[in-house]
Amino acid sequence: MGTRHNFIIAIDGFSSCGKSTLAKALAKKLKFAFIDSGAMYRAVTLYFLRHNIELNNQEAVESALQNIHIDFVPNAVRTEIHLNDEDVSEEIRQMYISDKVSEVSALKAVRKAMVAQQQKLGSRRNIIMDGRDIGTTVFPDADLKIFMTADPKVRAARRYLELTEKGEDVTLDEVVENLANRDHIDSTRAESPLRQAEDAIVLDNSNMTPQQQLQFVEQEYVKVKALRAAQD
Ligand code: C5P
Repeated sequence: MGTRHNFIIAIDGFSSCGKSTLAKALAKKLKFAFIDSGAMYRAVTLYFLRHNIELNNQEAVESALQNIHIDFVPNAVRTEIHLNDEDVSEEIRQMYISDKVSEVSALKAVRKAMVAQQQKLGSRRNIIMDGRDIGTTVFPDADLKIFMTADPKVRAARRYLELTEKGEDVTLDEVVENLANRDHIDSTRAESPLRQAEDAIVLDNSNMTPQQQLQFVEQEYVKVKALRAAQD
């Protein structure tokens, strides 16, 4: 673990596996900071769409990235994500962002900028970060790595419920297609594709309650913590 003194938990996996739900609950329990790295890629996508940035125009992409400032701002109930001081927490969850985000996230310049910010966010405090490449690229030396997966049908049903509860007009088929597309682009892109880190612990939560998932990861955390204490 070198000279690093903070504890880093990386949670990666496929779309709509419940990574953020688990990460949030775990962060609350352990009193760690939680960073949803997917929200950062979603905020970049929102900016690109608003400013009609052409993804194959490298100069436009690079200069847009210079103008993007993303902050996580805690309020009384949750942490808001701000894009240039505007709360975009709700907007970035919409389907039109989900439809574009994987294309934007595959760009080398976008990844470079986001990974640098994520590494900075995790440089000093105890942190749980969820995403696609946290255990492989952002924090390859994370103290605990979880790789989440679940039956695609279960994942689509969960996401569909989440979106329709918020009043979005989507069909289950659209959600199934969006998840499959994103997983495909995320896993096959050249720049830090989604894959399981060799030292990650797999968590298939198809048949697990949120409470069971939390318990599972907490147990792993206690094990690593004990091992680390014995090494110090
Ligand atoms: O986690 P979430 O589903 O909100 O992420 C949205 C998208 O952002 C993913 O489908 C993926 O394309 C991209 N992403 C990424 N690397 C991360 C986190 C998210 O490429 N670390």
